[in-house]
Amino acid sequence: MKFCDRNDKLQEECGIVSLYNIKEATELSVKALLSLQHRGQQACGMYLYNEDASRLIKNTGLVSEVFKEVPFFSVSYDNAVGHVRYATSGTNRSIDAQPFLTSVNGKKLILAHNGHILNQSNLRSYLISEGQEFETNSDSEILLLYLKNNLEKNKSLQFAISELLHNISGAFSVVGVFGEVMFAFRDSKGFRPLVLGQKINPDQSVGYVIVSETCALEMIEATYTCDIKPGELCLIQNSKAIFIQILKPDKTAMCSFEYIYFSRSDSMVFEKSVYETRLKFGEWLAQEEGLELGKIDLVIAVPDSGTAAAIGYAQKLNKPFHIGLVKNAYVGRTFIASGQSNRKDMVKLKLNALQGSIRGKSIIVIDDSLVRGTTSHQIVEILKKRGAREVHLRIASPPIRYSCYFGVDTPEAKDLIANQLSLVEMNRLIGSHSLRFLSWNGYLNVLSEKNKYCVACFNGDYPLAISEKSFHNISYVKEKREILV
Ligand code: SF4
Repeated sequence: MKFCDRNDKLQEECGIVSLYNIKEATELSVKALLSLQHRGQQACGMYLYNEDASRLIKNTGLVSEVFKEVPFFSVSYDNAVGHVRYATSGTNRSIDAQPFLTSVNGKKLILAHNGHILNQSNLRSYLISEGQEFETNSDSEILLLYLKNNLEKNKSLQFAISELLHNISGAFSVVGVFGEVMFAFRDSKGFRPLVLGQKINPDQSVGYVIVSETCALEMIEATYTCDIKPGELCLIQNSKAIFIQILKPDKTAMCSFEYIYFSRSDSMVFEKSVYETRLKFGEWLAQEEGLELGKIDLVIAVPDSGTAAAIGYAQKLNKPFHIGLVKNAYVGRTFIASGQSNRKDMVKLKLNALQGSIRGKSIIVIDDSLVRGTTSHQIVEILKKRGAREVHLRIASPPIRYSCYFGVDTPEAKDLIANQLSLVEMNRLIGSHSLRFLSWNGYLNVLSEKNKYCVACFNGDYPLAISEKSFHNISYVKEKREILV
């Protein structure tokens, strides 16, 4: 197996934001989107509105670039629907940026979505046969036109969303507006997070905020109220929020990878602290350590998502935790994707080893996950070059062996290092002195209510039927595993 040189992480999906009756919604929605920037850096957008004015801004690029004119807006808006995008479906042009906007019987319909629709081609054909016209290849536009199609038949908003929840398969957390009503809903498996918060305005009126992660609530000083439940619809109108359980989830499948990498450490996701969960992954990893402890001088993390697990690991073994790798926060994905650097130097541009900490030491390096192995190989090389005596790599999650079809950009199974190689082979290819993953048992123990989570990228047990093409992919993977195990 050769290393693939693409970005060596599962890519986040998207982040969504909506604000209802919030003074200074314009500035606050930009702040909320900034705090969700980690969920998507390719494009972003915002629909701002009041009773008598509205404005849609969207483009490719980061929040700080697309919304740099916001401080100079002459109108102050009270409501907003916003989105940060990583494209798992469709291309990356400004027209693909969300929210999407259309109108139905003279009322505006706006929608922003985080996730991935599985039965896209059937739905697209159906909607075209109904006379709907697509402008993009985005699956989010399918959701918009599905609602539009129902609303044009004079169905109520609640009924239109109910039909959508019954007929569309996949992962979707959605926020939007129809006329005066703000709405939000999650698919019945609850793959992607979505939370509701409240903010009291200076005039003591109540405003509502719906966002992907709680870190965005804290950013704008809103207080957490509750998670929008899987299969639940939240309607906000006349300053009141009402909840309607449209589909009773028989078995949820919340994305457990949110805890490993996607979500920010300072968020509560699916009612559990991301930071605490990462600490526990590290503690379990330490409990399972097979190396003679006298051989370990210090523990370092691959910043940033490996840090919490590294702290948990070091505390459990009573070993010193040091900064061993320093991240250059100013080397963004745009620069890397532009081809201005040799792709082999990508990791060197982003990370450097702190020679003073590691020289002559035997170190444990904790990373959150192992995807293709490219980054780990280069990190181990950098650490050795800077004088580390021994480099032992520890991964705070089980091996990823299967692709995700629920809104996360995963490499094909054949490019996942753990799908193709045994532990010994991976260790040899990466060049580490030893390699160990968090055990399956440890992972499930930390998750605790294990039946409520999706773990399909680890065990191939998909919670929803996926497309024919994808099934073909799975059988390929299973065939390969039999050869390798
Ligand atoms: Fe999350 Fe993995 Fe399930 Fe995808 S397959 S939803 S990344 S746990």
